[in-house]
Amino acid sequence: MCKSEEALVTSHNFKLIIDSIPAMAWSARPDGPTEFVSQHYVDYTGLSSEQARGWGWTVAVHTDDLDGLIATWQTIIASGNAGETEARLRRFDGSYRWFLVRANPLRDESGNIVKWYGVNTDIDERKRAGDKAVEAEGELQRTIDGIPALVAAYGADGAGISINKRGREYTGLSAEDVANGGWRGAIHPDDIELEESKWRTCLATGEPFELEYRVRAVDGTYRWQIARRVPLHDQAGKVIRWYGMSHDIEGRKQAEAFLAGEKQLLEMIISGSLLRDVLSALCEFIERAAPDCFCDVHMIDWISSTFEYAVAPSLPSAYSDPIAGMPVSGELLPCGIAAFQNIQVVAVDIESDPRWYTSPVRAHVLQHGYRSVWSTPVCSREGRVLATFCIVQRKPATPSPHHQDLIAHATQIASIAIERSLVEAALRQTKTLLSEAQRLSSTGAFSWRVDTDDIAFSEELYRIFEFDPNSPVTLEQIRERIHADDIPSLTAQMARVRSGEGYLGYEIRLRMLDNRVKYLRTFGRVIRHQDGRVECLTAVQDVTERRQAEEALGKARTELAHVTRVSSLGALTASIAHEVNQPLSGIITNASTCLRMLAADPPNVDGARETAHRTIRDGNLAADVIARLRGLFSKRAPTIEAVDLNEAAREVIALSAGDLQRGRVVLHPQLSEGLPLVAGDHVQLQQVIMNLVRNAADAMSGVDDRPRRLVIKTEHDEDDCVRLSVEDAGTGFGADGPERLFEAFYTTKNEGMGIGLSVSRSIIDNHCGRLWAAANDGPGATFTFSVPEYSKYRSSAEDANLSTGLRGRRCPNTSGG
Ligand code: ADP
Repeated sequence: MCKSEEALVTSHNFKLIIDSIPAMAWSARPDGPTEFVSQHYVDYTGLSSEQARGWGWTVAVHTDDLDGLIATWQTIIASGNAGETEARLRRFDGSYRWFLVRANPLRDESGNIVKWYGVNTDIDERKRAGDKAVEAEGELQRTIDGIPALVAAYGADGAGISINKRGREYTGLSAEDVANGGWRGAIHPDDIELEESKWRTCLATGEPFELEYRVRAVDGTYRWQIARRVPLHDQAGKVIRWYGMSHDIEGRKQAEAFLAGEKQLLEMIISGSLLRDVLSALCEFIERAAPDCFCDVHMIDWISSTFEYAVAPSLPSAYSDPIAGMPVSGELLPCGIAAFQNIQVVAVDIESDPRWYTSPVRAHVLQHGYRSVWSTPVCSREGRVLATFCIVQRKPATPSPHHQDLIAHATQIASIAIERSLVEAALRQTKTLLSEAQRLSSTGAFSWRVDTDDIAFSEELYRIFEFDPNSPVTLEQIRERIHADDIPSLTAQMARVRSGEGYLGYEIRLRMLDNRVKYLRTFGRVIRHQDGRVECLTAVQDVTERRQAEEALGKARTELAHVTRVSSLGALTASIAHEVNQPLSGIITNASTCLRMLAADPPNVDGARETAHRTIRDGNLAADVIARLRGLFSKRAPTIEAVDLNEAAREVIALSAGDLQRGRVVLHPQLSEGLPLVAGDHVQLQQVIMNLVRNAADAMSGVDDRPRRLVIKTEHDEDDCVRLSVEDAGTGFGADGPERLFEAFYTTKNEGMGIGLSVSRSIIDNHCGRLWAAANDGPGATFTFSVPEYSKYRSSAEDANLSTGLRGRRCPNTSGG
């Protein structure tokens, strides 16, 4: 086979091979025109080999892709290197499919291109899938752009990639700005650090996060945004992107800031800040929420009906200070009208408002460069105007709903602050008064929480107990300070309160560290609170001085009583002499008789024995008289005991009988039987009876026209007392009435001292009884005293667990006569 035949056979074989490949293959001359197309090419395009040859194939190229394809092809030819491009080729049925057109050069030994071989690969499906993805991406972008929030995409490293339309419009940043990291510049400088640190943490962990920060808007203002950033993972779970979405929360932030401001003001009020400081902070708070507004609070003194002072931190003092001392009433001041009529006064423009043409306030306001003045009353909860809240602006202005809202808040807070400060001032005053009163009256107070034994002492009580006012008081401390003898009384009292019984006022003594004794009187009340807590509130009065004075007085009284008794000894001498004389003469007579009977022969022994017995009886009688006298005139401290008033009266009668007889007084004892014993000092009660009997006898000494009748009567009195009365038929009282007689040193007698009745009354008072006098229906007067029964005295003394004794004891509730 010759070379040309060989080549022909090779070419034929090549064609066969090429045609069997299921791909569109072709060859072209080194300068471009196609020489050969494979069967598959012919089949696909529907062009014949001839039609496709040269540049004929171009008819099957999509018109949109032809220029690009030819340009690329020429570039490839010019470069002499393999190359490829994509183009749509028409199928025999007129439809187009995408192909990857690839050309490779075939070179001879010297490297010259002798031919181009090409293969068109169908990439239609891949291409269309790619287009869809692009389309879908476009759709996604449109959706994202349509979201009414700021949406941004970031790379896995957190660098900004893109931002949605809303974001671009809001920030004024372009997509390029964002891609170049310009996004950071829109974040408020104060929030950058927070944003970056959050980013760092979340980029490291891959966890979504939320952040509140301020983002600069296109007009340069910053607004609060809440941003949420979430990661996008690939199939392997690796973060490939972050998406962020931010919502505007400026409104919420403002409301929060407002609330925080309000809270701060209320905290100032609660913590007891000065009223001026609170009102000043309030003005500044409102000024922050309402730009261009200047606030001013005018305090009112309703006693003088003038403005007291102004608080206006942002206004010049030359503007706000002159209000002090100006009258609230009248039409001069907008705040005066607001306060007086309790209405809001709005001067939109004080310059043109006819209401203020003649008011000096117009010139004052204008002179300081202000135009609008709005004044609103600040009222207490009961509706009383406490102050006015004023807003001025440099321009004419009408309050907007936002302004009115702020004014409502401001007046409410001002009202709370002022009311609280008034209450605190009143409380302070009361506290001062109370502590002064406590100090002056030596009265302290304490509260005892019965369930917890917590004790709170008042200042004065600390002083009374001589405790350190800086350390809390415990029950133990109190017990240690109580006089050992009074501990049972305290224990009994506490047990009463704990068991739910009422509180009994009682007296108790303290023994101080230097052994001084203090006498305290307590008055208490047990309070059961709504939550079940039981609290015992007690007032404690230091009555040491009084008690000491009483003791001194008591001593003086005893002395005086003794003196009066002794002084009456003289008057009684005759009677006593008579009393003693009778048994003495009896004894002498009996002794003589006895001697006589023994001297008789035979001695009359029986008669002598009988007479000796009488002698003994008379001796005893005389000894009794002496004993009674000694009892009455001895000097001893009074003691409380159970006294039989009838017996006491009988003894006095016995002592006075002779005296009365000589005075021609007819005695009528009417002593009731079965009377209870009374609590008292036997001798002192006898002294009183003796005084009354002697006075009665004296009052009848000049009476000759009627019997000198003296009745001594004892009877049971109401209220568990026994009474004794001495009734005479004497001169009775003069025009002065009976009360003067009890005054010390009042006497109508030449030899009188005028202390008998006053001493008697103090004795009876000291017995918790009463002594009084009354004129008789007929002539004369009746003197009566009434003293408590011993049994009643004992029970009340035991109740209070008191030591017995005439002084320092609690009198039972007596009412005699
Ligand atoms: P004195 O007996 O030393 O005068 P008293 O205090 O006992 O002192 O009495 C004061 C005065 O009261 C008497 O001076 C007398 O004027 C008057 N008085 C006392 N008892 C009676 C009585 N039974 N009737 C009328 N006047 C009396």
